[in-house]
Amino acid sequence: MRRDPECIFCKIVAGELPSKKVYQDDKVTAFHDIHPIAPVHILIVPNQHIASVNQVEPEDADVLGHMFWVARQVAEQMGVAERGYRLIVNTGEHAGQVIFHIHMHLLGGRPLGRMLCQS
Ligand code: 5GP
Ligand code: ZN
Repeated sequence: MRRDPECIFCKIVAGELPSKKVYQDDKVTAFHDIHPIAPVHILIVPNQHIASVNQVEPEDADVLGHMFWVARQVAEQMGVAERGYRLIVNTGEHAGQVIFHIHMHLLGGRPLGRMLCQS
């Protein structure tokens, strides 16, 4: 399993840092964002360290595809599947990525507005 010893999300996956986990299997972990911006704000991460979409390789396809199935499970578990939710993957500086372990934000529980603000 690829791992970065300095990475916060690698430590959360391993249980070395606390988090409110909502799902975990051998490939993927999902937990509550520490600073939620919507009533439901869950982070879905691969257990192995991939820094961002810019480092994705063909052999990562299985785990990245599995993240979408986990998103579906978590959306149902959190009660937002029917009314809808948004999945966001920030990549790099212009997208505001601050944690360089690839992650999917699952946001829901209220109308989320347009995809981007106009500024
Ligand atoms: P990014 O901007 O990189 O896409 O999002 C990183 C997210 O990770 C932010 O929404 C931030 O609130 C969340 N986050 C940062 N540190 C921690 C942490 O230690 N625990 C949890 N649960 N979330 C974190
Ligand atoms: Zn990591």
